[in-house]
Amino acid sequence: MATQTPNHSSYDVVIVGGAIMGASVAWFLSDDPDFDGKVLVVERDTSYEFSSTMHTNSCMRQQFSTELNVRISQFAADFVKNLPRYMGNDDRVPDLSIQNFGYMYLADNDDFADVLRESQATQIAAGAATQLMSPEQIKAAYPFYNVDDIVLGSINLVDEGFWDATAVFDWWRRSARERGVEYVQNEVVAMTKNAAGTRVENVKLKSGEVIACAHVLNASGPRAIETAKMAGVAVPVEPRKRFSWIFSAEKPLDRDLPLTIDPSGIHVRENGGGTYQCGGHSEIDPAVDYDDFQMDHSIWENHVWPVLATRIPQFEAIKVQSEGVGITPITPSITTRF
Ligand SMILES: Cc1cc2nc3c(=O)[nH]c(=O)nc-3n(C[C@H](O)[C@H](O)[C@H](O)COP(=O)(O)OP(=O)(O)OC[C@H]3O[C@@H](n4cnc5c(N)ncnc54)[C@H](O)[C@@H]3O)c2cc1C
Repeated sequence: MATQTPNHSSYDVVIVGGAIMGASVAWFLSDDPDFDGKVLVVERDTSYEFSSTMHTNSCMRQQFSTELNVRISQFAADFVKNLPRYMGNDDRVPDLSIQNFGYMYLADNDDFADVLRESQATQIAAGAATQLMSPEQIKAAYPFYNVDDIVLGSINLVDEGFWDATAVFDWWRRSARERGVEYVQNEVVAMTKNAAGTRVENVKLKSGEVIACAHVLNASGPRAIETAKMAGVAVPVEPRKRFSWIFSAEKPLDRDLPLTIDPSGIHVRENGGGTYQCGGHSEIDPAVDYDDFQMDHSIWENHVWPVLATRIPQFEAIKVQSEGVGITPITPSITTRF
């Protein structure tokens, strides 16, 4: 892939990785009236084809177990719903909304039901609208679910569901560039610390240039561990494979399907027009190679479809329209449910 040379040899901030996290930080720096430094974003593949960002299901939730995560998500919801205002009332910026079908967490045992109850208390205290539902209440509101094994459900129908991440990502890049943030296609391959070893003072690019910097931001997604190693830092992040399928149902559901987190870990949601998006991973879920985008077709037949058809019997007659693989950054010690 062709590399580009930065315009300067020194920057206040160098951001490693220009996908959604890098683009977000670059834009917020450009929007901060107290910051007038030079920002360089280095992205190894500006097609973003293999980034996690390009594979996202693009849903946000407030169902977390810590107040901080709930608050971050509330800010994200406010940002998405008021994008033109955050972008200085730029009339080129689209109005966006959140499709509030909610995340429906389903617990099939008392331990996980207790986790849902504790988390709901945290979420309510932080101002979220999460409701706990008995199996009977779930069945009344969403008759298509099989709730025979379900002890408790948890759903939030306010600012939780699908949003247009691509539009926000595009506008963060476009607006930051217009305000002077520089993006180059290149790769950070090494870093040098100052004599005291307290901070990174320059980064080396694949094309050979050495760029001085006051701060480096690691926004390299699943490769974060490799980037951190360049600065002698260990971060607990692993690349994990996530499979997605879009399917149509012979008999579509009569109402929106929440992003349903089945106790098995498989999730499925409304995708519009009688189609649904489903996601999951292999039962072992090991860390994988950064470039391992190979599809495992057996997962659908042997694991995902049987789970779907059991949870929502109407999904016994479905047709897969497309499938895909993405790699997401995971911190292994943190449960992927919350
Ligand atoms: C199938 C799937 C579904 C998902 N669904 C959701 C969802 O519904 N909601 C949600 O919140 N999250 C979801 N996620 C997770 C979400 O996509 C990621 O958390 C998010 O995109 C991470 O963004 P990032 O910018 O940190 O990483 P990435 O998008 O991976 O970007 C990292 C970038 O850094 C670049 N890079 C790496 N190393 C270097 C280097 N040395 N030099 C220069 N550039 C470098 C890469 O090329 C890449 O473009 C999903 C993930 C997957 C895979």
